[in-house]
Amino acid sequence: MDDKLSTGRPGPTGGTRLDPWFGAYAQRAHGMRASEIRALFAVANRPEVVSLAGGMPYLDGLPLDSIADTIQRLVATRGTTVLQYGSGQGDETLREHIVDVVAMEGIDAHPDDVVVTTGSQQALDLVARIFVDPGDVVVAEAPSYVGALGVFRSYQAEVEHVPLDADGLVPEALEATLERLAREGRRVKLLYTVPNFHNPAGVTLSAERRPKILEIARRYGVLVVEDNPYGLLGFSGDPLPALRASDEEGVLYLGSFSKTFAPGYRVGWVIAPHAVREKLVLASESSILCPSNASQLAISAYMESADWRGQIKSFRELYRERRDAMTTALTEHMPDSSWNTPDGGFYVWVKLPPGLDARAMLPRAVTSRVAYVPGTAFFADGTGADHLRLSYCFPTPERIREGVRRLGSVIGDERDL
Ligand code: PMP
Repeated sequence: MDDKLSTGRPGPTGGTRLDPWFGAYAQRAHGMRASEIRALFAVANRPEVVSLAGGMPYLDGLPLDSIADTIQRLVATRGTTVLQYGSGQGDETLREHIVDVVAMEGIDAHPDDVVVTTGSQQALDLVARIFVDPGDVVVAEAPSYVGALGVFRSYQAEVEHVPLDADGLVPEALEATLERLAREGRRVKLLYTVPNFHNPAGVTLSAERRPKILEIARRYGVLVVEDNPYGLLGFSGDPLPALRASDEEGVLYLGSFSKTFAPGYRVGWVIAPHAVREKLVLASESSILCPSNASQLAISAYMESADWRGQIKSFRELYRERRDAMTTALTEHMPDSSWNTPDGGFYVWVKLPPGLDARAMLPRAVTSRVAYVPGTAFFADGTGADHLRLSYCFPTPERIREGVRRLGSVIGDERDL
């Protein structure tokens, strides 16, 4: 019996017992892999496990009753528009509100510059789709957001990591990498960066480094993708000016309502130079026709009727308290590890004591009813096992303390092995 095609269904050559269509996939589909930790996360979602793994925002603080009223009123007054197809670029009123949001980070944009997307995840996909050919290089921080690495892999990009430190991406290291890639004759298309409250590293690109990074990217002809879902969630001071605030031609700015309002609406945006914006709209129309009118109109209605700035302020306070709970618990229970103290956002990036492997340790941590994301998820080459990412956004301070206590005892046991 042909072992490859034994499911009883005829399939293209190269199929397997489990997937008769294996041989038919496009090359890029072979780069799409479920993370090896996905199965463990099913377990991690059990109530007895303290999950410090996911990046889910805490939504109980939202004014749910008034949001429900707003949606009801919207359907009653503009029902057919809410339920109808809309513009491929996005609803104009929402784009006007987005211009107000990004003004808080010094961006002077026009509603025409904005393309509304289905979360910033779709924006990442569109950007890669219009810029990345197989084998092109995308330069990204080491570590980088796992969801962006997945997008780049699916377009068969080669990711080159550049280190970051407590002040974010290191300009000298960026320059050295771009210089080396130029010498090697490799085509660098994008610099992908999360400048504020980095996922997973928690750090922020300093004000001094921002113009340097832009100048280097400009000199090497590399388009900067500024992915900024956490920029308004800082715990002290005003937000730093976005990279896009001082470079309109060389930066694609990605924003999102997921962390400052609600990810369930799936609304994000890109601010792009004129010609790029046109391509993004075409690419988006070919994948989704248009973003959801229901979501876009609901967000506009919320912004018009609720104190959204006050809501962001209360999210900041909530997350600061959780950040404090986590760093205090780390000091108490994980004295031999090191970590940064993030000044905003959702994540603490922990370096384990020498010799420990975050990926190998994860099943034992889940057995001890605590979950995290091993550092290996955030490197294209699978390195990073000496780190792990902890999120403090969703669990209460009490659960955070208990989770870190459990993790400290797992690490203690691991060292005794
Ligand atoms: N970029 C970064 C850095 C993120 O952390 C996330 C969500 N975790 C996203 C993009 C995607 O967010 P969304 O699609 O919900 O806007």
